[in-house]
Amino acid sequence: MKILRISKNFCNAYIIIDGVKGIIVDTLTPGSGNFLLKKIEEIGVYSFELQAIFITHAHFDHAGSAKKLSKFFNIPIITHRITGAYLAKGENPFLTPYRLKGKLMLLGAKMINTSYPSFEPDIVFDSVMRLDEFGIDGYLIHTPGHTDGSSSLVIGNNAVIGDLLMGVPYPQKPSWPPFVSDTKTLLKSIKKILSDSIKTFYPGHGLPWDTELVMGFLDTYKEKVYHRVLAN
Ligand SMILES: [Zn+2]
Repeated sequence: MKILRISKNFCNAYIIIDGVKGIIVDTLTPGSGNFLLKKIEEIGVYSFELQAIFITHAHFDHAGSAKKLSKFFNIPIITHRITGAYLAKGENPFLTPYRLKGKLMLLGAKMINTSYPSFEPDIVFDSVMRLDEFGIDGYLIHTPGHTDGSSSLVIGNNAVIGDLLMGVPYPQKPSWPPFVSDTKTLLKSIKKILSDSIKTFYPGHGLPWDTELVMGFLDTYKEKVYHRVLAN
């Protein structure tokens, strides 16, 4: 099993290859379709068969080129039901700034609120969806908090988490996402993912992190809500 990261302008898409089957996770910004196609070709598109596209959440820098790739490869788009409703409109969920970082980023809101080509997802799920029917030995799981419809892909000891945590400003270090729909829900989702024996986290922005790094980050976070939520 391989997890390949494709990065452009500090945003990540991933190609997960399990045997001869593959799945695309997220699709970068609008207009990145040809860039992604070139990268997928370099990986060796003829050595595996792409089965589906999974969109972690309805932000333009994750869903931007999904429509183009889905049409090109003639493969379905899978996402959480809540995210699906935004994708159908090409809209980003309302951005709730978290701490100073989020407020600063909102100054660039014009860029952040970029729309993207809308599309109806082919398959939506609510809590968990196994990927066996696509030949992938993994599953999708609802991990809300950054947005209400955010979800992650788990395969083996790896989790591709979208923006559940973000490598902003330092790609090598996990940090809170600058936009959080609900802090408690976000923490519960991190706890849920951690309970699945994950060893490596693959974020939507930044470099992959070992679980120790994520645990270390959470341990140094002193805010009471963290301890209260994780204790329950
Ligand atoms: Zn996001």
